[in-house]
Amino acid sequence: MIHEILPVGPLQCNCSIIGDESTREAMVIDPGDDIADVQALIGKHSLQVKQIVITHAHIDHVGGAMKLRAATGAPILINENDYALLKLLDVQAAWLGMQDPGKVDVDHSLRELDKVQAGSLTAKVLHTPGHTEGSICLHFPAEQKLIAGDTLFAGSIGRTDLPGGSFDKIIRSLRDKLLVLPDETVVVPGHGRLTTIGEEREHNPFLK
Ligand SMILES: [Zn+2]
Repeated sequence: MIHEILPVGPLQCNCSIIGDESTREAMVIDPGDDIADVQALIGKHSLQVKQIVITHAHIDHVGGAMKLRAATGAPILINENDYALLKLLDVQAAWLGMQDPGKVDVDHSLRELDKVQAGSLTAKVLHTPGHTEGSICLHFPAEQKLIAGDTLFAGSIGRTDLPGGSFDKIIRSLRDKLLVLPDETVVVPGHGRLTTIGEEREHNPFLK
C-alpha cells in the first residue's frame, strides 16, 4: 500500500494519497488545498486517481476537490448529509479569511458500509455524524488503518460547536463505530499526528 500524508492549506488538513502498488490505482482523501503538491506526489508514484473522497464539507478538507477532479477526471464522493454545508463554502471562506473555492459538484454520495476501491485496496465507509451531519471515516480492514477526518484526533475529538455539530452524536459515533475497531488500527486524523485506536481508548479524555 502506498500511503502519502500531506498536510495542506493554512489549517494543515491531512490529505491522504492511497495507492495500490501493483495496479497504481489510487484514491485521494481530503484534497483541501495545495493541489500542485498533491499532483506532484501522484506523479512521483505514477498513480492514477480513481476516487476523490471527502470526509466532510469543511473548506479545509474539500477546497481543492474541483481542481483535482479537473486534473484527474476522478469522481468526488461525499456523504449526502453534508450537501447543505457544501453549499456554504463561501460563508466558510469568509469566516476563515480564505478565498472562496467556488461550487463543488458531487458525483455521488457515500453511505454507511459503502465500499471505496483503488486497485486491490478496499475502504469501508463509516458514517460518523457529530463534527458535521455528513462526517464519514474510511476503514481499511486489511491494512488496519482508519482515515478519521475531524471525528477523532490524537488526544482529542472534533469540535461540535459549528453548524451541524452535535456533541451527543460525535460521542455515539466514536463509541459505536470507532471504538469497536481493533486496538492496532492506525488512525490518520484530519489534523495533527497519527495515533491508534488502542492509544485513544486508553488515553483520550473524551472516550473515558
Ligand atoms: Zn472540519
